[in-house]
Amino acid sequence: MTAKIIDGNQLSKQVRTEVAKRAAALTAQGRQPGLAVILVGDSQASQVYVRNKIKACEENGIHSVFEKYDASMTEAELLARVHALNHDPKIHGILVQLPLPAHIDSHKVIEAIAAEKDVDGFHISNAGLLMTGQPLFRPCTPYGVMKMLESIDYPVRGAHAVVVGASNIVGKPQAMLLLQAGATVTICNSKTRDLGHHTRDADILVVATGKRNIVTGDMIKPGAVVIDVGMNRDDAGKLCGDVDYAGACEVAGWVTPVPGGVGPMTITMLLVNTLEAAERN
Ligand code: NAP
Repeated sequence: MTAKIIDGNQLSKQVRTEVAKRAAALTAQGRQPGLAVILVGDSQASQVYVRNKIKACEENGIHSVFEKYDASMTEAELLARVHALNHDPKIHGILVQLPLPAHIDSHKVIEAIAAEKDVDGFHISNAGLLMTGQPLFRPCTPYGVMKMLESIDYPVRGAHAVVVGASNIVGKPQAMLLLQAGATVTICNSKTRDLGHHTRDADILVVATGKRNIVTGDMIKPGAVVIDVGMNRDDAGKLCGDVDYAGACEVAGWVTPVPGGVGPMTITMLLVNTLEAAERN
């Protein structure tokens, strides 16, 4: 079997066209959607992510404010910036790029963001709303994965979905969204015994561990949808996912590439969340 590719760039383009249209309609009413992005420190990777988010805003009619601070910024200073943005009427979404320097409590910072501006969906109220089936903001990466499944008309209801990885920002919300869509969900973590036993039974396999090649072709059910969230570097320094892509292509029904899969969808869903926050405002 040769898997079909779910092209995250192509799907992003379609969703962003719609975002730009709706953003223009709001702007015409004097209510342009606005996103503030805060970066603390000099992480190269974070700078690239932030740059891509700002660029995507600019290209799709969303006003963006980028605040970059030195790694020596104190927690109190950062909290003060978050409070100011909470009260800024031009800003509908606030994103604090993670990870933060070790001296800053990221939970405290996330809880300081007004829940109705928490476009990352990480605030404890938004996590609770998602858990109880009434999400205000869906975290961008799992939301993007759901859009990808929708784009291939995959019958999620009744399917067995296996999520490998259980972080608060990807694995857990992913499992919740799949459950709400009617899947039977298995969540695996680093303590899972015999990972392949679980993955081989997955109709939908979402892998988000940050461990290169953790899933190989022999761990995939023939015809399954394999969504690779991981972002790693191979020995040559090239971006790659958590799944052995060549092996997956031989067995799966659909696969997402890295790069060009979940990554662009994550940014796209950030735009969607910001737009929806502005529309609700
Ligand atoms: P994280 O916070 O480090 O969590 C990793 C999860 O994987 C943990 O739940 C961990 O289990 C689990 N895990 C580790 N080794 C495992 C193993 N051998 N078997 C099964 N589970 C294992 O990472 P994250 O923030 O969720 O990110 C995961 C990956 O996705 C990273 O590569 C990250 O760069 C990428 N990512 C990509 C995007 C995108 O837009 N494409 C967005 C976010 C993240 P424990 O809970 O037991 O520790």
